[in-house]
Amino acid sequence: MSTESDKLLTSFDGGFKCKVPTKSIKTSADLNLDKEFKNKHFISRGAGMSFAPASFRPDTLSLLSSANSVISFDKETKMVEVDAGMSVGDLGHYLMDKGFYIKTVPGYPNITIGGCIATDAHGKNQLQDGTFQNLVESFELYHPEYGLQSVSRASNQKLFDLTCGGFGLTGHMVSAKLRLSKLKSNYLNLHTEELPDIYDLPMALERINKRDCDMLLSWHNFLLNGKKFGHGFIQYGFFNKNKSSIQSQNDSFNQKPIPGLYPDSRGDGWPSVFSYVPTSLMNSLYTYLQKMSCANPRAIPLSSCSFPSLKLRDLYFNAFGANGFLEHQAVVPVFDFAEYIDRIKWWLNQNELPITIASSKYFGGRGKYLQFRSSGICFAMDFPRCKKAYEFLAYLDQVCIELGCLPNIIKDSRIEADCVSKTYREYELFRKALRDYDPWRLCRSELSDRLKL
Ligand SMILES: Cc1cc2nc3c(=O)[nH]c(=O)nc-3n(C[C@H](O)[C@H](O)[C@H](O)COP(=O)(O)OP(=O)(O)OC[C@H]3O[C@@H](n4cnc5c(N)ncnc54)[C@H](O)[C@@H]3O)c2cc1C
Repeated sequence: MSTESDKLLTSFDGGFKCKVPTKSIKTSADLNLDKEFKNKHFISRGAGMSFAPASFRPDTLSLLSSANSVISFDKETKMVEVDAGMSVGDLGHYLMDKGFYIKTVPGYPNITIGGCIATDAHGKNQLQDGTFQNLVESFELYHPEYGLQSVSRASNQKLFDLTCGGFGLTGHMVSAKLRLSKLKSNYLNLHTEELPDIYDLPMALERINKRDCDMLLSWHNFLLNGKKFGHGFIQYGFFNKNKSSIQSQNDSFNQKPIPGLYPDSRGDGWPSVFSYVPTSLMNSLYTYLQKMSCANPRAIPLSSCSFPSLKLRDLYFNAFGANGFLEHQAVVPVFDFAEYIDRIKWWLNQNELPITIASSKYFGGRGKYLQFRSSGICFAMDFPRCKKAYEFLAYLDQVCIELGCLPNIIKDSRIEADCVSKTYREYELFRKALRDYDPWRLCRSELSDRLKL
């Protein structure tokens, strides 16, 4: 059964909203769009957790991925087939009971498998595990002109690459077959190391990465001045093979999404609390907690490692108020990291903008088309949405172009085609391949319009 209604949709960063027609897709029978939608624009939507408006556009039908089930599971071939609307949290919960997991999981449980494939999402150990595409064996893809197609690397490498990280522009994915890994334990030993000088980050990440860890990231305080600017902590973890009790009923894989996190209701009646003083206090508290963790490694459940502090993050996103926030995330080449930090420091010295969170992950590889994959340090910063924030992002666009950094399209709701075409070397190839496949250009979103895709 499919339903149709108009819905007000908002990008996760709160920057773009509009009322659009929606249709709920539960089975492939709901995709008989021939009569109603032939030659009309549409775009698929998962959980709507993208910071940028990638799953809606004015006067365009959003197809809601409403089915959320496991279709088949084979422990011999280590393969699971799921509805594209299945959330990574529910899948993690299902697999844990069976002693398996998927290696790449983005940071919130209700994000869907379709959303992960269409943005080629990364997890907390990208350099070792690669991106979501590595997990994908095949998927079923619907396009009104071609019907339902089964796509794998072997059957159609070009369409496979165009869809993984293709922002839903090749059609609607109904289901996907994913490769699994055997779970070594459902606990990780989490270590925390203080990093007084942010310029030492590349060396520290490289040193820790050599220890073959199962997760690796860092956090930094950008509200400190002088030599303390960027003071931070590196967190890394290893599966704890000695501690492995199955505690699935208590794990946070199957925690239900927190309503307040949704941008539609987020921040109702809240002013933005992120001026300098509260942001400083938040950073000081986090520093204190991290310092306490440095002394003793802790064993934490895999689910808490995949989706840390859900309730605190709900509070965090709400605290931006109805105006929302903006994020910059880019892979910075290791050799240019010091210059990148110098330029950020310089700008923040001239301007007032509280950076609420700065964090990094270690990245490797090279993405095809518009996939967010490159070698270097993947650096992210959040800040309240305001005039200064837009000026900062325009400045960072220039920094990315000059230093050869790769900005993350899905995390930035205002980046323009000019910057993307100068930072993604296969931008034109993507546009051409998309038009070769779909000369009608049926699938469209605010993101695809803005980037002239
Ligand atoms: C708190 C939080 C933490 C995050 N952490 C990470 C992280 O660690 N790593 C990371 O890479 N990203 C991360 N993200 C970003 C997130 O993984 C992506 O934006 C993801 O695409 C969101 O999935 P979704 O199900 O909400 O999809 P939506 O936001 O609804 O859609 C995203 C894209 O996928 C397409 N799409 C969705 N379903 C289908 C389908 N069935 N068929 C075809 N196309 C489809 C849409 O058209 C759209 O282009 C995070 C986001 C949040 C809010």
